[in-house]
Amino acid sequence: MKDYLTLANELIWQRQTSFFTAAFLAAFYFDPVSIFACYGIVVLTEILDQILGARAKAWDGKDPVLGRKLLTAIAINTAVSALAISVFIANIAVQQTTGGQFTSLFFLFSASLFAAMHNSQMISILILRLSIYGITFLFIAFLEVVRYAPPITSPIWLQFFTIVFVLFFIGDISAKFYRGYQERLKQMKLMEEEHNRTKAALEVKSQFLSTVSHELRTPLTSIIGSLELVNNGVLGDIPQNFKPVIEIATKNSRRLANLIDDLLDLQKIEAGEIRFNLQPICANDLAREAVDSISGYASMLGISLEMQSCKDECYIMGDQKRLIQVMNNLLSNALKFSKENGAVKVRVENVASRVRISVEDKGTGIPENAEERVFGKFSQIDSSDVRKVGGTGLGLNITKQIVEHHDARIGYVSALGVGSTFYVEFDRLEDADDTDGISGNVSEVA
Ligand code: ADP
Repeated sequence: MKDYLTLANELIWQRQTSFFTAAFLAAFYFDPVSIFACYGIVVLTEILDQILGARAKAWDGKDPVLGRKLLTAIAINTAVSALAISVFIANIAVQQTTGGQFTSLFFLFSASLFAAMHNSQMISILILRLSIYGITFLFIAFLEVVRYAPPITSPIWLQFFTIVFVLFFIGDISAKFYRGYQERLKQMKLMEEEHNRTKAALEVKSQFLSTVSHELRTPLTSIIGSLELVNNGVLGDIPQNFKPVIEIATKNSRRLANLIDDLLDLQKIEAGEIRFNLQPICANDLAREAVDSISGYASMLGISLEMQSCKDECYIMGDQKRLIQVMNNLLSNALKFSKENGAVKVRVENVASRVRISVEDKGTGIPENAEERVFGKFSQIDSSDVRKVGGTGLGLNITKQIVEHHDARIGYVSALGVGSTFYVEFDRLEDADDTDGISGNVSEVA
C-alpha cells in the first residue's frame, strides 16, 4: 500500500500534465463546462491521493485499523477518480457523432495502460480501476452500435470487435506488469535476507576478532615476555639442552603474535576504525627511521642496508605511525626474500610532482602477473610446505590499504632470480610550513 501511494505521489506531475492536456484539447472541440467539471473531480482525487500518501507515510504498518481505513479510502478515491475519467471520456464519445471514436478510445487506452504500468502494487485497486475503464470501453463500443444499428459488415462493428480485442490486451499486459512486480518483490526479499545474513556473519567475525584480541593477544604477550626472560638468562642459567626448545617456542609465539596483529589491523582498516592522523612528513626522515629500526635484523641476516636520500624537499602528507608500518613491511620483505650476503637499497626521490620511496633487493624476485597474489589476503607466491621464509600473506595487503588511504600508490618491478623493487608514491607537499595548525611532525630537510 505504501509503495502504491509513494509511486502515485511521485507520478503526480506526469499524470497532471496528461490530464490537463487531454482536458484542454477536449474543451476546444467539445462542451468545455462538462469537460472541466470532470477534470476538476480528477484533480480533487489527486489531492486526496496526496493526503493519503502523507498518512500512509506516517503509518508504521502495525495498526490494522488504520491500515483498513487507508485501504478503504484508497478504494473509494480510486473509484471516484476512475469514474471521473470515464465520465470525461464517455462525454467526449457521446458528443462525437462523426468520424468514429478515435479520441475517446485513445484517451481511455492511455489511462488503462498508465494504470496497468503503475498500479501493480495493489492488485485489487488495479482491478477496480480497470473494471471501471473496461465498462467505459464497452459503453463506447455499444454506443455506436446502438446509435446506428449497423449491419455486421459495417466498420462500426469492426470498431466494436477491435475494442474487445484491446480490452483483452490491457488485461494481459496488466497481468504481466503485476507478475513482474511480484517477481521484483521476491528478489528484493531474497536480497534483504542475504543482506541480513551477511550482516550477521560480519558481526560474528567482529566478535570473534575482538575475542581473539583480548583472549589470545594479551596472554600471548605475557608468554613471549616470560620466554624472553628465560632465553636471556634473566631468571638464571638454563640447561643447554633446554635452549633450542625455548628458542623455538619464542620464535613461534612471535609468529603467532604477528599473525594476530595483522588480523586485527586488517579488521580495523576494513571496518574503517583506523583514524589516519595526517601530518606533513619529510620522506627522507621517514625512510631513515625505518632503515635504522630494521638495521639490527639486516645485520643478523648478513644483508647490507643502504639508503639514498632525496636532495630536494620531499614532504608528504601522512600518518607517521602507519607509514613506518608500510616501510617496515617493505623492508622486512626485502630482507626476507634476499639471498645471503645480499644488499637492500632504500631510495627517496622526487618524480615530477610526486615523492617516491623505493626498496630494492637482489633477492628471489617475483614471477610475472603475480600482482593479485602479492597484494591479496593470505596469499603468497610460494605457498608450499617447503617455503623457506615465514609470513602470513597479509602484510602487503594491509600495506596497500594504508597506502591507498593516503591517496598514494604502491607498485613493484621484479624479475625472477634478479630481485624486486617495491615503491610507494605520494603527492609532494609543496610548502610544508604553510600547513595550518599542524606542525607536530615537521622535521628539517637534511
Ligand atoms: P608475507 O607475510 O608472506 O611476507 P606479504 O603480504 O608481505 O606476506 O607478501 C606477500 C607475498 O609477496 C610474499 O609471500 C612473497 O611471495 C611476495 N613478496 C613480497 N615482497 C617480496 C620481495 N621483496 N621479493 C620477493 N617476493 C616478495
